[in-house]
Amino acid sequence: MFERIFIDKEVTDFTTVNHVKEYFPDIQIVEVSSKEEVLEFVNDDSMKDRIQSGKKILYLNNYKGQFVKFCPARSPECYMCCNLHTINLQSNCVFNCTYCILQSVLSNPVMQVHCNLDEIFSSLVEYDNSLTEKTRICTGEIADSLALDHIFNQNKYLVEFFAKSKHLYLELKTKSNNIEPLLGIESNGRTVVSFSLNPSDVVKKIELQTASLEERLDAARKVLDHGYKVCFNIDPMIYFEGWQEAYTELIDTISSRFKAGEITWFHVGILRSNPGLAKIVRQRFPGQTIFDEEFVLGVDKKYRYPKHIRDEMYHLVYSKLNQFDAELASYACVEKASHWKKHKHFVPKDVHDVNRYLTNRL
Ligand code: SF4
Repeated sequence: MFERIFIDKEVTDFTTVNHVKEYFPDIQIVEVSSKEEVLEFVNDDSMKDRIQSGKKILYLNNYKGQFVKFCPARSPECYMCCNLHTINLQSNCVFNCTYCILQSVLSNPVMQVHCNLDEIFSSLVEYDNSLTEKTRICTGEIADSLALDHIFNQNKYLVEFFAKSKHLYLELKTKSNNIEPLLGIESNGRTVVSFSLNPSDVVKKIELQTASLEERLDAARKVLDHGYKVCFNIDPMIYFEGWQEAYTELIDTISSRFKAGEITWFHVGILRSNPGLAKIVRQRFPGQTIFDEEFVLGVDKKYRYPKHIRDEMYHLVYSKLNQFDAELASYACVEKASHWKKHKHFVPKDVHDVNRYLTNRL
């Protein structure tokens, strides 16, 4: 998995570091004073090599920036936002989803893990004290929240912290089934494990190295039975010949394995990309055709399928979800008010209204 491990001199005796040392007793861990020393080991011959070699380098560091932030997908005013917040404990991911936006946005390509958990918790306490309503904080915007948790063991501390918080709820987003480290921890219903789903064939062909659909659904059932909340994301939905049958079958499978009322909310997102991503994907994954369709540029400078295609896709998913569980809050976070009016028959007043709609089962 990792060919080299580096550790910032400031974090040598932190808890996360000790977990990593236990997991990799035979790999030499090199102490460094700056990220530049680590970047020397990234193969910069091409973008393809840079991304691939970065994923094999682990850098345990001391994060200096702001901890609690708004989700980076937060949209310009014309898109409805769901008021998701983030804390980044990691940056980068060992999986290889071909559409992954991190390929074109991460300036540092190595797998970074921030080890100064005490400072992160202090920021969370301060933020929690400033709130008056339920607020979701997610760790999986520029990483997979669970994929490497058996190595870093950070989620245990997070789940225990959030179990006692006043207004905060933790969202762990994943395409893995690595839920064993979560079992046996008392979440007090304050942690939502959020599984990204796609039809089985899509997972096999473009979500490379991730858990199969079957494994993710099994994992969802298991965490649900262990007291966690569960939500699902169909994101990104991909347009291809036969998409209607594939996504119908996906929601039928979910409906056959979960009861109405069991899923806390359901997010739907349709493939988006930024300028530059398609070129990288063609280089890294020859033969992949997901970006060969027609796309239009939105005001957020992201490409999407044309509106009539998006509407058709949303219509199918929302109607199937409605049949499954008429009270289930389902939504897309990067569409306009007109989307809500057309598909949900109401328009939230603001981000807090969207948030209230999503969190009514928390
Ligand atoms: S799981 Fe998420 S972060 Fe990881 S490669 Fe796939 S899209 Fe990117």
